[in-house]
Amino acid sequence: MIELLLSPPALGVLGLLVGSFLNVVVHRLPAMYMRDWWRHDVAGFALADPRSWQAAFGAAAKPPRELEAASRAVLQRLDQLTPLTLLRPPSRCPACGHRIKAHENVPVLSWLLLRGRCSACGTGIAPRYLLVELATGLLFAACAWLFGAGAHALVSCAALALLIVMALVDLDYTLLPDSLTIPLVVLGLVAAALHWTPVRWSDAAAGALVGYGVLWAFGAFWQLVLRKANAMAEGDMKMLAGIGAVLGWQAVPGVLFLAATLGALIGVGLIVLGRHRRDVPIPFGPYLALGGLAGILLPSAVGGFGAALAPLVGL
Ligand SMILES: [Zn+2]
Repeated sequence: MIELLLSPPALGVLGLLVGSFLNVVVHRLPAMYMRDWWRHDVAGFALADPRSWQAAFGAAAKPPRELEAASRAVLQRLDQLTPLTLLRPPSRCPACGHRIKAHENVPVLSWLLLRGRCSACGTGIAPRYLLVELATGLLFAACAWLFGAGAHALVSCAALALLIVMALVDLDYTLLPDSLTIPLVVLGLVAAALHWTPVRWSDAAAGALVGYGVLWAFGAFWQLVLRKANAMAEGDMKMLAGIGAVLGWQAVPGVLFLAATLGALIGVGLIVLGRHRRDVPIPFGPYLALGGLAGILLPSAVGGFGAALAPLVGL
């Protein structure tokens, strides 16, 4: 029975359904994050803690009235919004508000039958929705095919699902929230500790540390020695920590090499083609995700690269 449930076709169909949900997550998670950010970091902070103002501008300084008025206006707007979670309210067309019915929500098929348009107002639905569903389905099927019907395949599917969401959220907003990166770290450590994957627990823990540390060191070098603005965001460090935890430290050099090479080629290409402004930071998450994807599907090739380096650093 398990063999059947975790067979490539069955996991492929599960992947299509999960892909459909990932589209919702990519759409809603940044909205939820930004609402929190406005409430806590922007509006709430200015209202709630005048000491921060005094610390910055002197004990006698008072926050200007406009700041308080603006804070109240933002908080009032936030309170008027319909609460948003990953599951509620049900999906609607962003253009006309048409509620997506169950038969319009079938992965891939609905998009094709509706020819990529909202059934009520005809506004186009981005092909990205279709591509995310197809890619998730194919990757899940590939995991079943590569790793057989067992925990290794399921852990790989879960890691790939998280990487897909991280890649797209970072692409859209240059944002890698902890709510995505930390679960990947936990997944890797737990899976290794419970022997769900062939990765040893100590290798997974070292992978998390090496993944975080190598990007931290790169950022510190960039900032301190070259005196440039820190190019590495903490989200990137946590993401590579997660990839290292899932694959073991041996995979980190290979993943990073792939990510940096792809990032350099595609990033420079986009700037040359004029598709990306030079002064806007390029999100690194999508490239880390591609490196992680390669590491998950081809563990011996990507891990072998790091293992070959090990004698050089005396490990
Ligand atoms: Zn519509």
